[in-house]
Amino acid sequence: MQVYLDNAATTRMLPAVRDAMLPYFCETYGNPSGFHSVSREAHRALDEARRTTAKCLGAEPGEIVFTGGGSEGDAMLLRGAARACRAKGSHIVTSAIEHHAVLRTLEAMQAAGEATVTVLPTDAEGRVSAEQVRATIRPDTVLVSVMAANNEVGTIEPIAAIGAVCREAGVLFHTDAVQAIGQIPINVKELPIDLLTLTAHKFHGPKGAGAVYIRKGVRVEPLIAGGEQESRRRAGTENVPGIVGLAAALRIATDGLAENAARMTRLRDRLISGIEAAIPTAILNGSRTDRLPNNVNVSFPGVRSEGLLMRLDLCGVAASAGSACTAGSLEPSHVLLALGASPERAQSALRLTLSSLTTDEEIDCVLSVLPEAVRLLSV
Ligand SMILES: *Cc1c(COP(=O)(O)O)cnc(C)c1O
Repeated sequence: MQVYLDNAATTRMLPAVRDAMLPYFCETYGNPSGFHSVSREAHRALDEARRTTAKCLGAEPGEIVFTGGGSEGDAMLLRGAARACRAKGSHIVTSAIEHHAVLRTLEAMQAAGEATVTVLPTDAEGRVSAEQVRATIRPDTVLVSVMAANNEVGTIEPIAAIGAVCREAGVLFHTDAVQAIGQIPINVKELPIDLLTLTAHKFHGPKGAGAVYIRKGVRVEPLIAGGEQESRRRAGTENVPGIVGLAAALRIATDGLAENAARMTRLRDRLISGIEAAIPTAILNGSRTDRLPNNVNVSFPGVRSEGLLMRLDLCGVAASAGSACTAGSLEPSHVLLALGASPERAQSALRLTLSSLTTDEEIDCVLSVLPEAVRLLSV
């Protein structure tokens, strides 16, 4: 039995999403920017995908720009918003537990003299404080970037409170909502968010297709120049099949959110209590309450993640250590270190992430092999 519990890294595409995409490879293959009927059909698909995407987020179609995924979206919004705000200042506030797509981009901007960055710590559960954001904002602060939910430990951030602080101070608020989509409700009409990033492959859509939300009136200089696409905000012929797939997956994720979240929460809690009952040394990383429905992250002191992952893989269980991007390197996770974990505890972390496709049988399977694997590897 193959057990897939690495859904924070990527998800399986739904057959319904694939079916929605298929006509846009060989039949409706036009370039949406052309002046003939082949193009017009592709343009129509693009318009419809934009309307669907906007509706699912509570946005207007003109506020959606399609991208090549989450990393591109983060880079585009951080760099583009900072450039558009140059006259006001270049101070940017972020948190220590952001995805590397945010942290590395801001580091590069700082190294190039394009930004001065303040990286806020979190509490022991990975929560960023809105009060601390307020205290860090200066007259030259232009942007605050705090993720909606963390990809490693699943902590849900108080983005409503953080956004409210930003709005009051006249500072732009960006949130990387890549992990939140399909798991917790995100409505940009109800939340004080100016800029938001999402990517389709984290909610059963295709890889290499993403979108950003840019609140009406907020200026973001384009990262990629050379064409009029996306209202001159992102040049390049649109990935029509990918965008159609993104919209189809987002609609399914949004419509099924309440039901899927309840299901995943039940399976998540069964997994956590099963692990804690069988392995008394296990330490849950992150929050017990403000936690994504799909996330389990536990440390087993004395057990190295790499060995455990290999053993689980032999049993047919696909899991992860920290984030997929740091797996393979022996660096302890920057997120777990930010939560105050020792390097030893950080290097013994196991992340199991569920999706709406996860079954009770998969949870049973993990619970039947994990305790033995941990026991064998304990020193
Ligand atoms: C996966 C992920 C990204 C990167 O998205 P890609 O589409 O893989 O580039 C960015 N931020 C978070 C929080 C993620 O989990």
